[in-house]
Amino acid sequence: MSTPQAYTDRNDVVNFINGAAVAGTSQRKQDVFNPSTGVVARQLVLSSTDDVAAAVAAAKAASQGWANTPPVRRARIMNKFLNLMNEHTDALAAMITAEHGKVFTDAQGEVARGIDIIEFACGIPQLLKGDYTEQVSNGIDNWTMRQPLGVVAGITPFNFPCMVPCWMFPVAIAAGNTFVLKPSERDPSASLYMARLLKEAGLPDGVFNVVQGDKAAVDALLEHPDVAAISFVGSTPIAHYIHERGAHFGKRVQALGGAKNHMVVMPDADIPRTVDALVGAAYGSAGERCMAISVAVMVGDVGKKIMPLLEERAKTLKIKDGMNLDAEMGPVVTRQAKERIEGYIEAGVKQGARLVVDGRGHKVNGHENGFYVGGTLFDDVTPDMTIYKEEIFGPVLACVHVHDFGEAVDLINKHEFGNGVSCFTSDGHIAREFARRIQVGMVGINVPIPVPMSWHGFGGWKRSLFGDTHAFGEEGVRFYTKQKSVMQRWPENIDKGNEFVMPTV
Ligand code: NAD
Repeated sequence: MSTPQAYTDRNDVVNFINGAAVAGTSQRKQDVFNPSTGVVARQLVLSSTDDVAAAVAAAKAASQGWANTPPVRRARIMNKFLNLMNEHTDALAAMITAEHGKVFTDAQGEVARGIDIIEFACGIPQLLKGDYTEQVSNGIDNWTMRQPLGVVAGITPFNFPCMVPCWMFPVAIAAGNTFVLKPSERDPSASLYMARLLKEAGLPDGVFNVVQGDKAAVDALLEHPDVAAISFVGSTPIAHYIHERGAHFGKRVQALGGAKNHMVVMPDADIPRTVDALVGAAYGSAGERCMAISVAVMVGDVGKKIMPLLEERAKTLKIKDGMNLDAEMGPVVTRQAKERIEGYIEAGVKQGARLVVDGRGHKVNGHENGFYVGGTLFDDVTPDMTIYKEEIFGPVLACVHVHDFGEAVDLINKHEFGNGVSCFTSDGHIAREFARRIQVGMVGINVPIPVPMSWHGFGGWKRSLFGDTHAFGEEGVRFYTKQKSVMQRWPENIDKGNEFVMPTV
């Protein structure tokens, strides 16, 4: 691959309302950093309640026309958008690397996983098909259909600025809703870029809108009477807040939260493959993935074989600016994130965990002010420690030792989070029991990061998801539509008189 072009635009990141980029009314702005250099790259506008109201008004005005557009025509626009996303993958990936810090090839992967959902949404005519029962009673047929909700909103986190919005808007729009996206304020540029591509694909103005901003914009969306549903992905405290507030205002809400994903390593696991999987899943994207493995649960004496190999790999990670094609890990997203992660490492040491590899104070030549944290490895971590209990969201792997499989399952089932989990083993019975007994929403057997394919849907259990439906897949279609049942009779003789009892046949 030739060297990709870095993203260097210095213009303010603005809103996208009714088919046009608009600065909005707010005077508030926030810096957007390049995490690799630590310098301010551009600013974004922090939308006011009025800006949010303008976006919702545009979405509402477009709503009826879009809902009446035949699903097959909506799907064709989605198909054009799909082609444009494929053509523009590298531009989007460079933008993601410039604002998030993840390495360029990983950013390309993020765009590709977003494109998966757009492909799924192209099948919306099939997905919206209802049920039909002929002759439920004499001369009566009954069918169900699914209709869009109206204006729906998405609030997304920093760690997947392209993929997570794509978990939401392609399905929502294809199903006939209009959409307002409030992306993360840390890496907002990809949202605007996708808005422009949607317009180029022929999406009518007002169907997709973006409001940049922070809590003020989120609260305005939560409180707006014309927003029928909110999809949220982010940290658990905010997910909980969104779920409660959204429900208070009568909205349908799905709110995906944080995680602490374990990987169980059984004594019969294939050691080289397990080490490769652990290193990629713990340190890929600097651990800033909701499906990152942050705890390795070593069963029996397998730790003796694994730990020295893990130590070697954590020490030799290629940590560089993400635009280097051989980089394995880039910086974390902000200085605050770096300080938070280093604070957790400090707490782990104080609480008695054995720090095998210390990533604090990591420096990258030529990027001395970048927000870098080196790969960090802890051994002898116990469940009472903060670094076991809380989500660190950085390149920190905690290793725990247990005696047997049952103890590993109990440990994981007691954790407050239940997003992803994995078990590495050569024993089919253990694999089957693990998948059945574990209280976690997404399970991998010899797969470290078991992100489901677009048609299966994505979601955790326990405090990793508030609400009833997972993101995308058929659950996503159900979330963005409401069922209507129609019962119809065309009697030969309509003068049969009133019926006061329920029919027996
Ligand atoms: P975050 O919760 O800080 O922010 C998410 C969104 O909420 C952003 O758009 C932000 O502007 C908004 N927000 C932040 N504080 C708010 C407040 N007080 N009131 C209202 N809105 C607020 O999350 P983040 O740091 O951007 O992302 C990382 C988190 O997201 C991690 O916890 C990670 O596990 C989680 N995540 C979960 C999944 C999943 O599928 N479960 C996927 C990706 C990320």
